Amino acid sequence: MKSKSELRIAIIGGGIGGSSAAVALKAKGIRADVYEQAPALGEVGAGIGIRPPSVNCFKKWGLYEDIERLTSRSDFMEIIAGDDQVFIKEAWPVLTDDKSEAYARLIHRADLLDTLIAHIPADQLHLNHRLTEVIDNGDHAEVKFANGKIIEADIVVAADGIRSPIRAQVLGQHDPIFSGYLAHRALISNDAVLGMSSEENILRIYVDGKNSVYLLPLECRKQVSVDITVPGKFAWRPEMTKELIMESVKGFGPTIQKIIENINLEDIVTRPLCDIEPMDKWSTKCVTLIGDAAHAMLHNQGQGANMAIQDADALAEAIAKAETAEEALQNYEKQRKPITKLYQNLSRLFPTDEAETAFPEKAHF
Ligand SMILES: Cc1cc2nc3c(=O)[nH]c(=O)nc-3n(C[C@H](O)[C@H](O)[C@H](O)COP(=O)(O)OP(=O)(O)OC[C@H]3O[C@@H](n4cnc5c(N)ncnc54)[C@H](O)[C@@H]3O)c2cc1C
Repeated sequence: MKSKSELRIAIIGGGIGGSSAAVALKAKGIRADVYEQAPALGEVGAGIGIRPPSVNCFKKWGLYEDIERLTSRSDFMEIIAGDDQVFIKEAWPVLTDDKSEAYARLIHRADLLDTLIAHIPADQLHLNHRLTEVIDNGDHAEVKFANGKIIEADIVVAADGIRSPIRAQVLGQHDPIFSGYLAHRALISNDAVLGMSSEENILRIYVDGKNSVYLLPLECRKQVSVDITVPGKFAWRPEMTKELIMESVKGFGPTIQKIIENINLEDIVTRPLCDIEPMDKWSTKCVTLIGDAAHAMLHNQGQGANMAIQDADALAEAIAKAETAEEALQNYEKQRKPITKLYQNLSRLFPTDEAETAFPEKAHF
């Protein structure tokens, strides 16, 4: 492999996975350029829980303080039937050797992404670059963009999401699989949650049969992230009416229904919940996958972004240590595939009012 300072690394996609990869490599003194199709980098509104292994990555990358101040500490998750019948209240799993880290840090995805981007040098961010073709020549790849630009890279990192065009071109078709569920998501103010939000930042999941409503407090923003997950028909951009949404939540208690009734339809983003099957192979000699492109999973375990962050760290470590690009990519995928496969499978379990744990992952650690 060329010396680390000569390596040409192209990251395609500037979401949480791609941005994390650029920051993780920068922390190792290795330059990487990020190519994003959108004219600006940003995330649609949803809260996520940052887990302890991801926090360790931020510490290594020098981002910990910047991210920590945008988060709020959550010690418990609850699963609730009706408006108030708590049948599971469980501490977040530790997931690292540090037993004091038995909690999650709740954050808005946009705040996390903005912080990552702020740590990427401006000349390494290339917006309005939609990849159209990647030609894998073994020892390097050629990347073509819709704007006419063509680049060569020694390593291409496909951080281009669940519908990854690079995955399809280089590793064969692995189509997204629809779970049978739609998610309606919105951000509302603390007042709009009608007293249902918790002062202790507990992530609450209200369940009614196959339907669930998540209330995830975002204390730093004085907002609550609402996620209504219900069975529905597939479309990448489903047409939605308020009546359809209200019909799907009629089994919930009156306060939950009222919260949802009060949200304007234009403030609700509806998406199909899809994942992919665990893949046997993520890499060629010079192209690899990261984040949702490698292992898109359903949101049930709250691990998609966390896995993307931890992929980025493992990839940067592997590139820094290996003698060749091929060796780096093989070591990276060997390290990351078992854990991401586990979470892909666990994430197919939806919360129900018969659940015995809020964290099926606990049985595995
Ligand atoms: C509502 C919701 C709640 C979630 N909750 C959690 C949680 O609590 N915890 C958690 O860990 N995870 C959670 N996740 C999952 C997490 O958000 C995703 O797994 C994560 O954001 C994936 O990041 P990514 O960078 O791999 O992909 P993406 O965010 O999809 O980014 C891909 C990027 O690639 C770009 N791109 C695509 N094609 C091209 C192209 N041809 N050329 C150039 N650029 C391209 C896209 O524009 C995009 O910017 C949640 C997800 C949702 C939707």
